[in-house]
Amino acid sequence: MANQTLGIESQLYNYLLAVSLRETEVLAQLRQATATSQSMAQMQIAPEQGQFMALLIQLIGAKKTLDIGVFTGYSALVVALALPQGGKVVACEINQEYAEFARHWWQKAGVIDKIDLHLAPAQDTLALLIANGEVDSFDFAFIDADKSNYDTYYEQALQLVCPGGLIAIDNVLWSGRVADPNIQDNRTNKIRDFNQKLHQDKRINLSLVPIADGLTLARKLP
Ligand code: CA
Repeated sequence: MANQTLGIESQLYNYLLAVSLRETEVLAQLRQATATSQSMAQMQIAPEQGQFMALLIQLIGAKKTLDIGVFTGYSALVVALALPQGGKVVACEINQEYAEFARHWWQKAGVIDKIDLHLAPAQDTLALLIANGEVDSFDFAFIDADKSNYDTYYEQALQLVCPGGLIAIDNVLWSGRVADPNIQDNRTNKIRDFNQKLHQDKRINLSLVPIADGLTLARKLP
């Protein structure tokens, strides 16, 4: 659940940020406000990861995206800022307090019109989108919600993204716990099973990028 890149010592990490991070003022304020007010602040994505995702959005020319697990809104905001005019983020969050916090910052950043927030269990929202004929219509999806349902969110996102579309899945290295055979708790095992499944999944090509807490990029084959 780390919110900075794993496995690099702080001197090097600070250097990386110093020579590459271009975080807007509102993003930096949102990060600061999350750190000071939220007990689960480590659930927020790392700023270098946000910038990487923004670059991906621009590289693939995404217009319509999914944010599964909003928390305080950083990932949806960084994506919304990278989208062109008319771009849209469909955001899923179950916690009303997080949703209100996120909305405040989206408003402040001037992108609230780009973000369509659904306050409901993500699997219900995704099922509704599928039922409403939005299959194959999203360019990008970011999965960062409860780990026990990752497989469900992935299967739903795989239906909703277009052929050639990209799914990014967060926390796949789980602070390194996935690699320690002595750790056998339920969530760690769920992430292990998920990683194994994607490795074998012929519907995608993939790369597990060791940024932040591990981010798998899965591209739906055309
Ligand atoms: Ca995360």
